[in-house]
Amino acid sequence: MEQKQELIKQYKENEQEIKKINNSLDELREKNRKETYNLQYKIYYDRIRALQDERDKKINELNKQLKEKENTKEQEREKLEGVIIKIQRIIKFLKTKKKDIVINENDVKYYDRYNTKDKKPLEWLGYLYSDEFLKIKLLIAENDKPKNKYSLIVYGKCIFTDDIIKFPYSYGINLNDNYNGLNLKILIKDTSTIEELKKYLEKNKDKILKEKIEEYKEIKKEYLNTLEDYKIEDFKELFKVECSCGFFLLNKNSYSLDYNNKNKPLCPKCKGVLKERK
Ligand SMILES: [Zn+2]
Repeated sequence: MEQKQELIKQYKENEQEIKKINNSLDELREKNRKETYNLQYKIYYDRIRALQDERDKKINELNKQLKEKENTKEQEREKLEGVIIKIQRIIKFLKTKKKDIVINENDVKYYDRYNTKDKKPLEWLGYLYSDEFLKIKLLIAENDKPKNKYSLIVYGKCIFTDDIIKFPYSYGINLNDNYNGLNLKILIKDTSTIEELKKYLEKNKDKILKEKIEEYKEIKKEYLNTLEDYKIEDFKELFKVECSCGFFLLNKNSYSLDYNNKNKPLCPKCKGVLKERK
C-alpha cells in the first residue's frame, strides 16, 4: 500500500514541476520574441535605412557622372561623324546609276479574281511630274466601295532609293501593279463620279505631293552637283575592302561577307577574292 501512495505523491509533485517548467519556457519564448522584434524593427531598422540611403546616393551620383561623360563623348563623336556622314552620302549618290525610268501603263491591271467586267477601264491622265530621274503618273480606277467608288491614284518611279528620299507607298490599293522599281504609290482621293475626280484634279494638281516634289528637286540638285564634283575613285583609299569588278565597302562590318577556304572574304558580286585594307 505504501508503495502506491508514494507513487501518487510523486505524480502530483512532478505534475507541479512540469507546469512550472512549461510556464518558464513560455516566459523565455515571449522574452525572446520581444527582443528579436526590437532588434529587427527598432534598433537596426534606422541604421539599415540610413545605410541604404547612403548606398543609393552613391549609386545615383555614379550614374549622373556617367551620363555627363557620355554626353560629352557623344557630342565629340557627333562632330567627328559630320564628315563621315557627308562622304557616305556622296558615295550613295555616286553609286546611284542614271537609268531610264518608265511607268508602263499596261503593267497596271485590276486583279483577275475580282469581277472586273463591270468596272470602268483604268483611265490614265498623264504625268503629275516628269523629268529624267523621277516620273509620277496619274490614274483613275474604280475601287470596291459602295459609295465614292472612283479613286485618283498616283504611281511613281525614281532613281533614288529609300535611304536618299522616301516617297509615300501604300499597300492598300487594290490593283495588280507588282512590277519592279515602283517606289511611289498613293491614293489621293475617292469620289462618287469620275467628273468630280477630274474637277478635283484640275483645281489641286499643283498641290498633290507638292512638298515631296520640292524635296526631290533639292536632292536632284545635290545629286547633279555631286556627280560633277566627285568620282568613286576619289575615295578609293577609304575602302575597307574592294574588288576589281568595282565592288567596295567603306565598312567591312556593315556587310556579312562569304569567305573562301583560306578565310579570304569574297566579293558578293563576282565571287572573286576581295582586297582588304587595314
Ligand atoms: Zn567583284
